[in-house]
Amino acid sequence: MEELLQKIEVYKAEIAAFTGSNTDEVEAFRIKYLGTNGLVKTVMGEMKNVPNENKREFGQILNNFKIFVQDSYDILKEKTAETENKIEHNFDWSLPGNPVVVGTRHPLNIIRNQIVSIFQKIGFAVSEGPEIEDDWHNFGAMNLPEDHPARDMQDTFYVNQNPIWLLRTHTSSVQARVMQHQKPPIRVICPGRVYRNETISARAHCFFHQVEGLYIDENVSFADLKQTLYFFVQEMFGKDVKVRFRPSYFPFTEPSAEMDISCLICESKGCNVCKHSGWVEILGSGMVHPNVLENFGIDSNKYTGFAFGMGVERIAQLKYRVNDLRLYSQNDIRFLKQFMGVV
Ligand SMILES: [Zn+2]
Repeated sequence: MEELLQKIEVYKAEIAAFTGSNTDEVEAFRIKYLGTNGLVKTVMGEMKNVPNENKREFGQILNNFKIFVQDSYDILKEKTAETENKIEHNFDWSLPGNPVVVGTRHPLNIIRNQIVSIFQKIGFAVSEGPEIEDDWHNFGAMNLPEDHPARDMQDTFYVNQNPIWLLRTHTSSVQARVMQHQKPPIRVICPGRVYRNETISARAHCFFHQVEGLYIDENVSFADLKQTLYFFVQEMFGKDVKVRFRPSYFPFTEPSAEMDISCLICESKGCNVCKHSGWVEILGSGMVHPNVLENFGIDSNKYTGFAFGMGVERIAQLKYRVNDLRLYSQNDIRFLKQFMGVV
């Protein structure tokens, strides 16, 4: 019995000296003293060896020991929780956070959105259509004769023969779809990607982006065409830009004209971009050919209209001085991040 009392004193001393301060150490303490095979249980087990006359006195001592261990454990546990809380509260909130990588809009999307919003201001709606087209919507409806060079395998990506499916060569196919389903007045712009079988270089690519426009109503004249495009150019490039129209030929418009603007890069003094002429071509336009209107059952004696088409890459080149078309599709982050913050 003396021996047992000594053991209890040793355990008490051990417990009092215990300095564990983290969850794992406190848990180890619990297992050692209070676990299923812990020391408290062992000491309690000794009770059976105690002589009957001492059982009462000894039971008291053992019980006190058990309470002592339990209290010590509770205190330790509370202290540990406090310390760990403190560690959390000691976190320095002023430390810089993990940076969030913010992407940029693609320059072609920036320009496309600008073009779209300028035309929306004067009442043009936006129409889109499929990139894989049939021959009729891409060529036939647009008054391109069977032997037109644009239909050549050399210029167009054919996906299927009989029936012919191809990658659209212009967004005029979207104009065709609008005329097919809508009665005048029609006032739409058609932004989208188009494909041509070109060798890829700084100045040409097998795909690029267009915005075409179409306006059909009664009494639409070439003066309306000029004024609309003049408004666009001033909104896009500023009030000082000059405009000139040059006669041209397109199968789907008559008369047709190409529009130049004064070179913004050299201020018309002459540079590589304007080929030292001081003028840069930015779009093709004209009055919709009567054949095109009649193809869609629109009475060409009652209605007239104008159409125009521009390359988004061309406008972006003039706005951002990008001299190599390939940069737009190379996904080079050094190029793309220069447009950070532009919306
Ligand atoms: Zn120039």
